Amino acid sequence: MTVATGSLLTGLGVGLNAVRGEVFRVKPQAAIPGPAKHGGDTDAEKETLRGAITHVASYLDELAIKAGETSAEIFEALKMLLEDEDLFETAVTEIESGWNAATAFIVAVDSLEEIFAGDAAFEERLVDLKDLAKRVAAHIAGVHMGLDLPTSGAYVIVGDDFSPADTAQFTDAVVGVVTIKGGPTSHTAIICRSKSIPAVVSCTQAAELVDGVSVLVDPVGDRVVVGGDDSMATKAISFVAKSLDPIIPVRANIGSLEDSIQAATTAANGVGLFRTELLYLSESTMPSAQKQAKSYAEILKAAPEGPIVVRTIDAGSDKPVPFLDMPHEENPALGIRGFRLIQDHRQFLIDQLTSLEVARKESGREVWVMAPMIATAAEAIEFAAMARSCGEYKVGIMVETPAIAMALRDLGGKIDFISVGTNDLSQYLFAADRMNAGLGALLNPWQPALVRMLQVIASESEAAGISSGVCGESASDPAFAVVLAGLGFKSVSASRSQVGAVRSALSAVSLEQAKEVAAIAVTATTADGCKAAVLDALAKLA
Ligand code: PEP
Ligand code: MG
Repeated sequence: MTVATGSLLTGLGVGLNAVRGEVFRVKPQAAIPGPAKHGGDTDAEKETLRGAITHVASYLDELAIKAGETSAEIFEALKMLLEDEDLFETAVTEIESGWNAATAFIVAVDSLEEIFAGDAAFEERLVDLKDLAKRVAAHIAGVHMGLDLPTSGAYVIVGDDFSPADTAQFTDAVVGVVTIKGGPTSHTAIICRSKSIPAVVSCTQAAELVDGVSVLVDPVGDRVVVGGDDSMATKAISFVAKSLDPIIPVRANIGSLEDSIQAATTAANGVGLFRTELLYLSESTMPSAQKQAKSYAEILKAAPEGPIVVRTIDAGSDKPVPFLDMPHEENPALGIRGFRLIQDHRQFLIDQLTSLEVARKESGREVWVMAPMIATAAEAIEFAAMARSCGEYKVGIMVETPAIAMALRDLGGKIDFISVGTNDLSQYLFAADRMNAGLGALLNPWQPALVRMLQVIASESEAAGISSGVCGESASDPAFAVVLAGLGFKSVSASRSQVGAVRSALSAVSLEQAKEVAAIAVTATTADGCKAAVLDALAKLA
């Protein structure tokens, strides 16, 4: 079945500009030979397997170089999994039992599935590792694998969702992206936002699109228009600045030295979220206090002027850190992650705060520290005491659980600030796994329940005399940032590519106007209705 010209396929938009291109369906991969036995030469099979693993590892190196510093860590982590000696030894056992090199490696990777069943974070990695095992098998069989994307022309690529290895293959001919699954915090959405490629994710009807059809990817309209042209693009509101400064400060989110340097080229007022765990996703040994102090100092020195909010390590669940020994859990998003690491790794947190203090003194910067995944006032108070005993910091917590949102009044005078992580807050509010490609609609920040929860958080923190900000992906949407200011948040922190757009929006309205817009948002009853009503109100103001 093909989709008629003029059809509107709805999803969730990423970006502010529409783009037209020809549909390119990502092709099913060429067939790789099925399981087979070898002819008896086990040594030759082992050597073949080593060679194929080395080949795929160097392919990951190439992807890491193309991806740039922030995403490079993802490929380095995958390479570690691929080259794991225990995995190789398991494959050798299979070779010795008669299977050929390709089959043996696939069987070895599959055996991990049984061992780690129920460990959601590892299951996510396992999907990538299985993809790599297929590449190993393909190399052995001489089968070419890859997306085979066109290198010239203007194409909108359409697929279920794209893995880190897929997004690194995007060529200059990829002008737009549509995913059938995937959500607003999916890898595809984050990469497209950072590369400024217009995308629509969670677009179920895109399954019907066929190669060669012309489509308009219209992210502001949260839709794909089949046969649409530029005149049908939903215009992003063009905000006309009324003042030089935004009504609340706009900070930048960073995770590496490269990010810090880039953020300093924007008009960001400091850093609202430094995700320290991103430095360690591929470290197999614990970094020493000296090494930590050195990297923190470099990052602090490079950061845009203003305060720098550093988050202590948020390891666990979707962000496994190899050197921290973590228990295998049935449901890691609800398990030991974030501040809960103090159960087994208290000293690492103390070392981190102590190293950061060395870096703070060396850089002369204003540093605020906050802990992720806080659920009770007692945890917040414990973190505040720990942080204050390690350094001269303003101390805060992330609000990512509904439980702590309901306990803010108990924290007056105990902490200095809060920063709302709407990515996780949505996950826990809606009981919708943020890694589950099929639940994108529930993770839409315009969901009225999230907006109303944010209203409660802003007013409760105000009443408790605690300064409040938002650093989740939702704050990267200029219109949503106006709602946040109107709800009473005192700052937002955006993806660095969005700092300019968010600043423009917050410089185009007065605080009174932002409050009026927020009042409209909290009365909406659907996510689409909420967004439409806010955009309508903003358009009238613009
Ligand atoms: C969040 O949860 O919104 C957040 C900013 O933290 P992360 O995305 O790193 O979990
Ligand atoms: Mg979070």
